[in-house]
Amino acid sequence: MTAFNHMLAPLDLGFTTLKNRIVMGSMHTGLEDRFWNYGKLAAYFEERAKGGTAMMITGGIAMNKRAWLKPLAGTMSSHADILNHRRVTEAVHRHDSKILMQVLHAGRYGYHPFSVSASSIKSPINPFKPKEMSEKEILETIKDYAKTARLAQLAGYDGIELMGSEGYLLNQFICRRVNQRKDQWGGPVENRMRFPVEIVRAVRAEVGSDFIICYRLSLIDLVPGGNTWDEIVTIAKALEEAGITILNTGIGWHEARVPTIATQVPRAAFRQVTARIKKELKVPVMASNRINTPEICEDIVASGDADLISMARPLLADSDFVNKAAAGKPEAINTCIGCNQGCLDLAFSNDRVTCLVNPRAGYETELVYVKARKAKKVAVVGGGMAGLTAATVAAERGHEVTLFEAAADIGGQFNMAAAVPGKEEFQETIRYYRHEVERTGVTVKLNARVSHDTLASFDEVVIATGVKPRIPRFPGIDHPKVLSYPQVLRGEVEVGLRVAVIGSGGIGVDTCAFLLEDHNQPVGEWAAHWGIDMTVSEEGGLAAPLPRHARREITMLQRKPGQKKMGAGPGLTTGWAHKALLNQFGVKMIAEAEYLKVDDLGLHIRVGESETRILDVDHVILCAGQESVTDLIPRDKDGKITDARYHVIGGAKLAGELDARRAIREGAELAASL
Ligand code: NAP
Ligand code: SF4
Repeated sequence: MTAFNHMLAPLDLGFTTLKNRIVMGSMHTGLEDRFWNYGKLAAYFEERAKGGTAMMITGGIAMNKRAWLKPLAGTMSSHADILNHRRVTEAVHRHDSKILMQVLHAGRYGYHPFSVSASSIKSPINPFKPKEMSEKEILETIKDYAKTARLAQLAGYDGIELMGSEGYLLNQFICRRVNQRKDQWGGPVENRMRFPVEIVRAVRAEVGSDFIICYRLSLIDLVPGGNTWDEIVTIAKALEEAGITILNTGIGWHEARVPTIATQVPRAAFRQVTARIKKELKVPVMASNRINTPEICEDIVASGDADLISMARPLLADSDFVNKAAAGKPEAINTCIGCNQGCLDLAFSNDRVTCLVNPRAGYETELVYVKARKAKKVAVVGGGMAGLTAATVAAERGHEVTLFEAAADIGGQFNMAAAVPGKEEFQETIRYYRHEVERTGVTVKLNARVSHDTLASFDEVVIATGVKPRIPRFPGIDHPKVLSYPQVLRGEVEVGLRVAVIGSGGIGVDTCAFLLEDHNQPVGEWAAHWGIDMTVSEEGGLAAPLPRHARREITMLQRKPGQKKMGAGPGLTTGWAHKALLNQFGVKMIAEAEYLKVDDLGLHIRVGESETRILDVDHVILCAGQESVTDLIPRDKDGKITDARYHVIGGAKLAGELDARRAIREGAELAASL
């Protein structure tokens, strides 16, 4: 037996058996919404089935139009909808894996004018106000759920998941926050839960006993007007009584202002809440949220906190997660770093979901690494994310690859990211690449400064030399008070107590976090600062946040107007949490700043049309963006590359809007084409 024997143990559900405890939780990929993308969707799930995942849950599929999350969202309401789904179920069943279709009614999260909910109360994150459902509509919707479940069964699914958490319709019905009805569907918890309980009964009656009904229940709503623990237990027991097979758990509504899955959330932060509900039920319970390594999965199952582990993002990041763990090689897993940049940020911008650390996710049929027809000698200059990806993919394809890195170690900018409290996960990507260069046989030359002579003997040369910090020009830029962000994040300098940060992009935000936060915060402390009451004794599990102690006084500045958005950084789904954190630490924000000079008195600025001001600070940290390092690129006077062997990727190609997602994708795409 391997070290993961609890995680890999089968689970008998009575009428069927799951081959291990790992479930790929639902993640809307964007492929579910268009019939012509079902081939891609089948390939996406097939890779994860091949990778050893016991069961997968599709992205949300609506049972009728009013249920849509956005216009023309994937719907299953007639027999004609079955055919596409069969491609998915057949692909998964070829590999002894199971798949559930998630049935999702968005309720007031529906981004369209005909959305409905328990009561007509608008969500703070959606401009559309829902219409209150009439009793007739409620009864029709219950029938629609049952019909869709039957269609899913005909399409070959092993079961369905009823999406009842994250603030979607069923969650809206069971909480006073949105359900203010006076009829039998509102009021006390017994009435508020009537709608989901009746749905489970109707579905069970329609599909028979040998079909999985998984219900995703919100264990902590994290919004005012959410449920208390006693109410949640009442609902869970009623769902069990009504006929569910598995209880999956969810944490927090989408509109909650508490991070629940971002990288700063400690791993498995909510496992104790799952353990508590498990004690109340007979059906298997599934844990979720920020679980990303086989070690944690094993610990949760072995300790009896949950029977199953739901991971969506970690299986986007590595489709072979289970097989690698089963082979006793957890170090080979490409770990999800919780960044949301390749997945949820894209889902919320209506783009196809992929993964920052795995550009093949969602592109299984398009980004294919085939064996090279002719093995070439490939030089990759730069051991950051772009270079590491290019080198390892090229070597995987059979090329003879040498990676030159000027620093003493690989990892590039990720080394600095990993130094930021709350971004410790970034170290996992460097660990993964360390393993990959070894596995694929890349020759790594560290502390290596290369010249064109060094590169003369190679068939292909990949320039991935990355970026260097942009140094703004104003008087006093050489003053000892002025520091660059690499000096700070690499711990090369002792930073004073009063600091000005020039630049409010991702690096500025990271630098503030570095100067204010602690590494690896224990769950209790982290939860207390975000106002999470894990006992859920009050509505929604909210408590008064424990104030932060700011060990430094920081002012963040930018030249452009728009103070409101400052401190959010680039992440669409994580920006609000970054900003909230800086607010909690009392970071001051100044927009429309003109930098006049730095001298012994501090940073002299003018804000808009106002008077000159002096920020009396010990240090001024430059986080003013990046410039490409292009020294090795042979170009003519028009900027065209003069040597066809040379290819430029990542930050060396374009420093503006550089992000690791683009760098890794460019590395992979180039290496797939060499
Ligand atoms: P950035 O996002 O481009 O921000 C640069 C900042 O510097 C801006 O606030 C800009 O504001 C200011 N600036 C630009 N030119 C300046 C000049 N000449 N003088 C003074 N200030 C100047 O760059 P970054 O923060 O270095 O981040 C680089 C990339 O890394 C980002 O695009 C991001 O994708 C990635 N990153 C991501 C994260 C993450 O959490 N996802 C974290 C770190 C980095 P004004 O022009 O208004 O002054
Ligand atoms: Fe995880 Fe980031 Fe990949 Fe999403 S994009 S799956 S959060 S590593």
